[in-house]
Amino acid sequence: MTSKNDLYYDVVIVGAGNAALCAAIASCESGAKVLVLEKGPKNKRGGNSFFTDGAIRFAFNGLEDLREVIPKITDEEAAKIHMPPYTVEQYHTDLMKATGNKSESELAEHLVTKSYETIKWMHENKVDFDLIYDNQSFVKDGINHFWGGLPVKTWNRGVGLIEQLNNRAEELGIDVWYESPAVKINKDGNEISSIVVKKKEKEVIVQTKSVVLACGSFEANKKLRAEKLGEIWNNAIVRGTEFNTGDGLSMAFEIGAQPFGEWNGCHSIGTDANAPIVGDFTKPGDIFKKHSYPLGIMINKEGNRFVDEGADFRNFTYAKYGREVLKQPGHIAYQIYDSQVRPMLRDEYDKEEATCYKAESIEELVAQLDVNREQFLQTIEAYNNAVQKGDYKPAEKDNKGTEGITPPKSNWALKIEKGPFYAFPVTCGITFCFGGLKANKKGEVLNNNDEPINGLYAAGEMIGGIFYGNYPGGSGLMSGAVFGRTAGTSAGRYVKAQLNLN
Ligand SMILES: Cc1cc2nc3c(=O)[nH]c(=O)nc-3n(C[C@H](O)[C@H](O)[C@H](O)COP(=O)(O)OP(=O)(O)OC[C@H]3O[C@@H](n4cnc5c(N)ncnc54)[C@H](O)[C@@H]3O)c2cc1C
Repeated sequence: MTSKNDLYYDVVIVGAGNAALCAAIASCESGAKVLVLEKGPKNKRGGNSFFTDGAIRFAFNGLEDLREVIPKITDEEAAKIHMPPYTVEQYHTDLMKATGNKSESELAEHLVTKSYETIKWMHENKVDFDLIYDNQSFVKDGINHFWGGLPVKTWNRGVGLIEQLNNRAEELGIDVWYESPAVKINKDGNEISSIVVKKKEKEVIVQTKSVVLACGSFEANKKLRAEKLGEIWNNAIVRGTEFNTGDGLSMAFEIGAQPFGEWNGCHSIGTDANAPIVGDFTKPGDIFKKHSYPLGIMINKEGNRFVDEGADFRNFTYAKYGREVLKQPGHIAYQIYDSQVRPMLRDEYDKEEATCYKAESIEELVAQLDVNREQFLQTIEAYNNAVQKGDYKPAEKDNKGTEGITPPKSNWALKIEKGPFYAFPVTCGITFCFGGLKANKKGEVLNNNDEPINGLYAAGEMIGGIFYGNYPGGSGLMSGAVFGRTAGTSAGRYVKAQLNLN
């Protein structure tokens, strides 16, 4: 395509996380001259995507589908793997179950049906993947049995994903400007005409026909968070990037975009009570989460339990239990385990960053905690008395639950009785907000009449209406990749059509 002057790009992508870089690569593939704008400096690039463990959920028909995108799996390794398929229908069912059937049907269908082909496209674009043996499989008779539909992560987690996407963008000749937040989108009549960028305190205008907004949601914006989610959310820590402050949303609303989705909802988890208040780019990886609560119980400062820790696999509860922790006094809870389950806890519990109290007896443990001690001991006693007999099977929903206590524990209920005992304090960490822009399955941003705003596209966390209340783990990266690729391709085609017209 032709450029008008030095500061003309066919497509400008706002953000440099997973969704944005997928959009940039896809736009470039369709022939566009592409500019990526990133608000942060180069050493803080990659957005929330950088902080992930890279778990990415997609539909596949069995191990052979996975070997196409992970060719390093040898025949010998494959012979020791039992990999049930995870169909489009299962993914769709899981998405609908997690969101209470609210996920917008066109967007939900696009996400699940395009998931595998997008993974293949990422692989063609030099993104490597690995199997997730830890936490997503168990060994029986020498065979690794995978379960739960989330067997794959990006190579070297989010760090590797961002590195590989950037390498690919560089290889394709895509320009990336760091420390260059987009601040305003201009229209000429009905069409996008330029974007204003803040560069070293100066405003630079880049002429363009199309903008893809992929600059995250507003979880790092204290004011907006309090306004949309409620004041209490200012007590949550921000798990990811400090730069996702809702800029893309306000720029889009200024030119008539329609808000959509659950504007008072967000993804949040139980995270180490001493985690930094905003993601630390020098400590990448999802190192502060605490996701083994289905194997133990959670007790608040008043000494009470407050959720069914064993309601489902953690993949289906972790994204909604963060807010339950936030509601507790002091926004704190203690995850309690005994020595029977301690070896089974996920590896984040062994990290030096993990805050842990340990004691030989429950009484000694409680003496170290900032809780109502009497009530705490009563809660443990009542829980232990309520645990029912049954086969304990940590890798499947075993129905070994409690009876006669509220809330119940529905699966994996073992008495807390064998010392040493452990308490891990957790607080609420916000991941991203569910409210966003209304977009269709082409990634086009819609106005209040549900009509596309010519030249404006969105991807990733910016799109509202896909997640409500909860989401199936690994869907954030997949949504970013599917809609990033879609939006980038649509933007490239749009510009081509415009240039052919003129
Ligand atoms: C700790 C943690 C662990 C997670 N683990 C997983 C996981 O394992 N699997 C999974 O699927 N999801 C996970 N998620 C969720 C996942 O990170 C997100 O859903 C997904 O990465 C969002 O991608 P995105 O590209 O939309 O946004 P981001 O990756 O956040 O990218 C947004 C980018 O926009 C930039 N930006 C913001 N404003 C501007 C502006 N005005 N101009 C220019 N640039 C701007 C930001 O700096 C950032 O680089 C995790 C999130 C966190 C925080």
